Amino acid sequence: MIDKQCEICGAAISGATQRIVIDGSDLEVCRGCARFGKQDDKWSPVPRKIVPTERSFTVRPKPKLRDHFKDIVELVPDYGRKIRDARESHGLTPDALGIKIKEKATLIKKIEREEITPEDEIRKKLEKELRIKLTEEAGEARVKAPSSGKGLTLGDIASIKRK
Ligand SMILES: [Zn+2]
Repeated sequence: MIDKQCEICGAAISGATQRIVIDGSDLEVCRGCARFGKQDDKWSPVPRKIVPTERSFTVRPKPKLRDHFKDIVELVPDYGRKIRDARESHGLTPDALGIKIKEKATLIKKIEREEITPEDEIRKKLEKELRIKLTEEAGEARVKAPSSGKGLTLGDIASIKRK
């Protein structure tokens, strides 16, 4: 049996192909390229998960609870390295940085080793002092299609192929 080829990157597809629609054309692509187009609803390679008890999970969040959580932001996964890199690029030792933000150097070292996550207040001081961003908003890490909104055109795919 011959493996199917991804119609975008040309890679052999082992396993289920992803059927997507780009610019009105149906394409069979690999998992990696599936994000370039819209999933063809008529053809779903992965059986939809049937969750019979779905309704019991849709608990409406209490407004008060949501207000409380809206300030909670997610730290970037490599915050420790990011802080250390930024600190070093500013030519600061943990002690020197500690003095600047009025925190103990041991605390900074622990944060850099990701032994502890910085509190909001400390995180903000680090961000300000080192001019870095240590948080990510939901969805921000997602890869956006080059021509946002419209999705890829077949011309875009041709240029991907050439790479
Ligand atoms: Zn591909």
